[in-house]
Parts: sequence; C-alpha cells; structure tokens
Amino acid sequence: MDFKQSIQQTIEQHAQRFKDISLFIGANPELGNEEFLAAARLKEELVFHGFEVQAPVLGIETAFIATYKAAKPGPIIAFLAEYDALKGLGHACGHHLICMMSTGAAVGLKSVIDEIGGEVRIYGTPAEETCGAKVPMAAAGLFDDCDIALMTHPYDHYEKSGKSLAMDAVQFEFFGQSAHAAASPHEGINALDAVIQTFNGINAFRQQVKSTVRIHGIINHGGQAANIIPDYASAQFYVRAATRHELNTLTRRVIQIAEGAALQAGCRLETSNYETSYDEMVTNRALSDTFTANLVQAGIALEDITEGEDHGSMDIGNVSLHCPAIHPYIQVIDEKHALHTPEFRDLAMQDRAMEGMLLAARTLAWTACDVITNPELLAQIKEEFALLKNGTS
Ligand SMILES: [Zn+2]
Ligand SMILES: [Zn+2]
Repeated sequence: MDFKQSIQQTIEQHAQRFKDISLFIGANPELGNEEFLAAARLKEELVFHGFEVQAPVLGIETAFIATYKAAKPGPIIAFLAEYDALKGLGHACGHHLICMMSTGAAVGLKSVIDEIGGEVRIYGTPAEETCGAKVPMAAAGLFDDCDIALMTHPYDHYEKSGKSLAMDAVQFEFFGQSAHAAASPHEGINALDAVIQTFNGINAFRQQVKSTVRIHGIINHGGQAANIIPDYASAQFYVRAATRHELNTLTRRVIQIAEGAALQAGCRLETSNYETSYDEMVTNRALSDTFTANLVQAGIALEDITEGEDHGSMDIGNVSLHCPAIHPYIQVIDEKHALHTPEFRDLAMQDRAMEGMLLAARTLAWTACDVITNPELLAQIKEEFALLKNGTS
C-alpha cells in the first residue's frame, strides 16, 4: 500500500473521533485565549495518538505544541490549529473544523512518518480573531526550524491560498482641558477637535496612498456632554497595506497626522497599539500548487477551485514570513454564505461540514507527504522562500 493510501485509511479509521471532537468544540464556543475546553480536548486526542504535548507556550495558557519525531530524519511539518470562537456568534468562522483539519492531518501523516522520515508538529494557536497567538509564536522563532507550515480554512467554496494585508491597530488618545463650553470656552483645550482633525488629515492623505491601502477608524471617546469642552477624546484606526515594509511608512505618516492634529488643538497625544499587529500573508506558490494537486487527486475538479484572494489580515501572515506557508480554503457548506454569519455557523455543524473537515485533513497530510518524499519539491519551496526573505529584508 502506498503512503497516501495509508494516510487516508488512518484518517477514515479515526473519522468518528475527529467528528465528535469537532462537534464538541462547535457546541462549546470559547473566545480567544479562553479556549480551555477546546485545547484540553485537542491535547488529549494528540496524546492518545502518541504525540508529545508541550503547553502552555510562551505563557499563553491555551496554546500548545504537539510533536512526533520519527527516528529517520526528514523535514519538519507544522500543521496550525485554530479553535477560538466569535463574540455573540459562536463558531461562525468554523474554527472548530480548522483544529480538526490540522489534527486529523497530523494523525494521518504520523501513520507513515516512521517510514518516510521527518517530524510532525501541531501548533495550537489561540485567539486568531483578536490578538493572534501566531504573532508572538512567530516572533519567538517557534516556526524558524519548520520546513513548511500548513492549515486550511472552511469556506463556501474551494479557493487557493492567497494573500492578506499587513495591519497595525493604532489608538490615539488626546488630552486637553475641560471648561464650560458657553461660559468660559477660552479656558478650554478641546480634545475632540484633535480627533476630528486627525480624521480630516487622514482623509486628505488618502489621495496619496496606493489603492491597496486601507485606513478605517472610529471615535471611541468623543466627550461627555455638549456643554463641556472635552478634555479627553480618542480614536482607533486599523491601518493596512500590502506589505509590512510599506505599512511601517504608512503608519508613521498616520501618527504624524495625529501629532499635527494634537498640535493644532493644543492637546497632548498618547499613541498605542490596541491589538496585535499582523504581517502580510505570503503564499508559497510551489507548496500551494502541491496542495491544489492533492485536492484534484482527492476528486475535486480544478475548475471548482478559485484563485487566491485578499482576505483582510490574518495572523498566519507572520508565520509565512518565517517559513513557507499556505492557507487555502475548503468548501464545507453547499449554500453561499459568508464567514461570520449565523447561517455559516449552523451549516458548519452538519455532516457536510464534517466531510469537508476530513477531506482537508487528508489533503493536508498528502501535501506534507509529497514534500517529505520529493526532495526536489522541498528544494523548490525553499528556494522560493529564500527569494522572499532576500526581497523583504
Ligand atoms: Zn474569522
Ligand atoms: Zn477564521
């Protein structure tokens, strides 16, 4: 029996366990960094399949790294697992499927790894929807020795791994002086003026940015009452660009605009990051093509797999700058519904979604198997990654 058949058989053998865990996590949604039930269930499953589990990671309670290393040396394969839910919506992004796509893939690959050589790792990465744990994990170098990192995301159609924007979440707080707005306005320093001038300045600046740039914000404090000059006002912005390199310049300009606004209003400004910054996702094309070929081998028609698109910002971006990575989308529902909707959430608990999860597990494991057993392919993947590193550093 060939390796891919063995992988498939192993996943089929454990299919009911995988579905049960996915349904359990789906029925017990937990917010980012609070995924205690999900992490416990996944770790338990990985121990059952003979993985060594390390947790917590970098002090993140619900993060883990599970490893199985074959005696025979070979590439290190990282499967990324997400399991956080959305506030008020539960598992409407299908992360209860993502964690089992990757866990199933790891179990499948482990069944042949002693023969083909290498190391299988599952990274449990909490809080993808808020302050993604992949960011500190990547910064700490936890992906630097990985040959490839893979995950798949549930969706309403098949889509190749694409790109995402680098993102900074910037907060501006302006401090002025309150005063009676009618009786003694001359004694006031209006912090809200600084916020309004920041928006005006950013809106004027839009003419000079690339069409791929996104700058969007809200006023989260605008004063207490119309008869009091606000002594405190603040705004939060997301600033996004195609690359981290571009974004650094852009965010600096946005901060300068806020500084100018503070100067105009006579306020003091405090700038901070209110969420974790994400880097852009760079898809490794050679790895992505291998995954697509495996989907086709599993019976998915090539014309049903759309080209990769831009999907906002994702914490796998940071991983993709540390090792070759992909983030393709797998069809798990047969109706057209966006992620983060109640419709997607409900359909993602059906049998159809579980079948999608198992298909993702199989094709992820097959892709890793191809990379391990085809040194030329691995060399090509690494060459492409080296070009990326040279281009951005
Ligand atoms: Zn989401
Ligand atoms: Zn998601």
